[in-house]
Amino acid sequence: MKLKIAVLAGDGIGPEVTHEATEILRAVANLGGHEFTFEPGLIGGVAITETGTPLPPTTLDLALDSDAVFLGAVGDNKFAALSPDKRPEAGLLQIRQALGGFANLRPSVAYTALAVNSPLRPEVTKDVDILFVRELLGGLYFGAPRWWDQTSSANGGGEAINTMRYTRDEVVRVARVAFELAEKRRKKVTSVDKANVLEVSQLWRATVSEIAKDYPGVTLEHQLVDSMAMHLMNTPRNFDVVLTENLFGDILSDEAAVITGSLGMLPSATIGGAVNLFEPVHGSAPDIAGTGKANPLGAILTAAMVLRHSAHLEAEAAAIEAAVQHVLSEGYRTADLARAADGTQPVVSTKQMGKLVQQALTEATDRRQSMHAV
Ligand code: NAD
Repeated sequence: MKLKIAVLAGDGIGPEVTHEATEILRAVANLGGHEFTFEPGLIGGVAITETGTPLPPTTLDLALDSDAVFLGAVGDNKFAALSPDKRPEAGLLQIRQALGGFANLRPSVAYTALAVNSPLRPEVTKDVDILFVRELLGGLYFGAPRWWDQTSSANGGGEAINTMRYTRDEVVRVARVAFELAEKRRKKVTSVDKANVLEVSQLWRATVSEIAKDYPGVTLEHQLVDSMAMHLMNTPRNFDVVLTENLFGDILSDEAAVITGSLGMLPSATIGGAVNLFEPVHGSAPDIAGTGKANPLGAILTAAMVLRHSAHLEAEAAAIEAAVQHVLSEGYRTADLARAADGTQPVVSTKQMGKLVQQALTEATDRRQSMHAV
């Protein structure tokens, strides 16, 4: 399998965690005889320093000419005085827009070994494995009209409007992504809306129900967003794929992140556009950049998503996830994850964690191959 990956490491801990993620992908390529190429590109603060702009045209060309884009993180306090459209984060927004992905995927997984890291009780988080499918290009964040009239003499001197708007086609395409992913998982889609109040949600619900008929093997349930917020904390095990619109998805996927227990553990993918974009959820963490304390597991799990969603290498993606589980179950922790004070959880650096996952991956592959040989 050939795969060209644009690697935009970015700022702060971005390059540190991206290095570990690409090393894992290199290991997968070596073990499976695949041909992955990695093309570096500038984005964010480092791109401003070198080219004067947070997303240089060469980076965009590279991204559009790749099979997948892997982004580390952007953000550098050095540029805080610039206007928002010139800051490093503008590069992120620009590339997301240019690639045009409309379905944002965020897994929320409970790792047994990290049960104490979640504020939820272990019996609540046990076996939780949710995949959020959030619509990313519509809804309240993009709907027109939108404005804030600060000078208005009416309404106490100010009035603002945002518009929640969806077309049927926008709902259809993201619903299909959710049902297709559910078919490969536990075959359940929970669609979240506010259909008891909002017409937009009524359109959403009717459309999702109609699309569900094309996927008879998948069970569909509808939840109102307010009760969903509670169910996620009370009975998260009940959910498989959660499909929702932009604003609700933004909020609920962050809420569900507490199940995993650390920002450094969370991967994400944005699919459906010209090229899929993969990025760990965390930012550039300037407070720990360069100290070797960054947790690379979110980036490594993002690498697994590259294989699953842009290369159809499901077994290889699952092997990376199993290697992460194995290393955690052996007790190894980066500083953000360490809880035990009795030495049973060796605290390791970014690089050491990356090497441990690579070692676990290689050993598991060797074991599988020797079993086949018998
Ligand atoms: P952040 O995610 O960078 O950090 C929040 C906290 O979590 C910090 O204490 C940090 O040390 C810790 N943390 C984050 N990732 C970690 C990891 N992998 N391992 C261990 N600890 C980790 O968020 P912030 O501090 O609000 O933002 C810092 C910069 O990152 C800002 O410039 C912001 O705009 C940018 N940002 C970028 C992205 C992105 O690139 N996708 C996302 C969020 C924030």
